[in-house]
Amino acid sequence: MAKVLAVTNQKGGVGKTTTAVNLSASLAALGQRVLMIDLDPQGNATTGCGVMKREALPTVYQILIGRSTLDQSRIRTEFGFDVLPANRELAGAEVELIELPNREFRLRDALAAAGDAYDFVLMDCPPALNMLTVNGLVAAESVMIPMQCEYYALEGLTDLVTTLRKVRANLNPVLQIEGLLRTMYDPRSTLTQQVSGELESHFGDKVYRSIIPRNVRLAEAPSYGKPVIAFDRQSRGAQAYLQLAQEMLDRRDGRIAPTEQGALA
Ligand code: ATP
Ligand code: MG
Repeated sequence: MAKVLAVTNQKGGVGKTTTAVNLSASLAALGQRVLMIDLDPQGNATTGCGVMKREALPTVYQILIGRSTLDQSRIRTEFGFDVLPANRELAGAEVELIELPNREFRLRDALAAAGDAYDFVLMDCPPALNMLTVNGLVAAESVMIPMQCEYYALEGLTDLVTTLRKVRANLNPVLQIEGLLRTMYDPRSTLTQQVSGELESHFGDKVYRSIIPRNVRLAEAPSYGKPVIAFDRQSRGAQAYLQLAQEMLDRRDGRIAPTEQGALA
């Protein structure tokens, strides 16, 4: 069974897309079968792995409104993983879904067709709590939350946890927090260190040990349509995402046994 993760945080620009693309590529590099789903009409995860948005039809949009299937829509990237692409058309799904039956469950139902084809499914959610994100949270068994260690981060996290509780109560009883990922980390900042420390004391083992540093190669790679390991494998950014992928495999396979791994805070 695939591990289905939503990469989510309603706060914008925290590294969701960078994480979805680079973690997908890193897990694939470690031999895992990965599907990345772009749930953001911005389509940055799609272009970030070398898939042209214009050519990328049909997309996740057609799947949500029932005009396409997973098989017809997924694209094999040159980086060893599949992508279910998105483009601006997906913005319309928000309105159209309201009219449709089972509107919150459509992605989950479409994914059921994947069967045993993947070890990991990673969904890049948009920076909003809309029907697209809800479809992602309903299809997921857990969420990965990328966050920057800055002043308002903890406040945002409280809102997110409240949302996750609601989704769990009403739509998806198995939903858990997979882990919190510190992104764009600058160890020289005292505030970063403080917030990072608070995160660890509040969320304990749910905070990944792997930390993603601020690294310019991570910001440059998308403009070449490549995950960073295909762009500059020796960069600190590439090494950090490989380390995160390994940590996830270690957790999955029980080589790290966090005391309360996954429970909703
Ligand atoms: P949105 O909420 O708009 O979807 P996001 O959460 O997906 O944003 P990204 O698009 O991944 O965030 O990152 C925001 C910007 O920061 C991008 O320009 C990205 O290239 C850059 N970035 C992300 N992570 C890093 C990092 N570790 N080091 C340097 N730059 C980074
Ligand atoms: Mg994004």
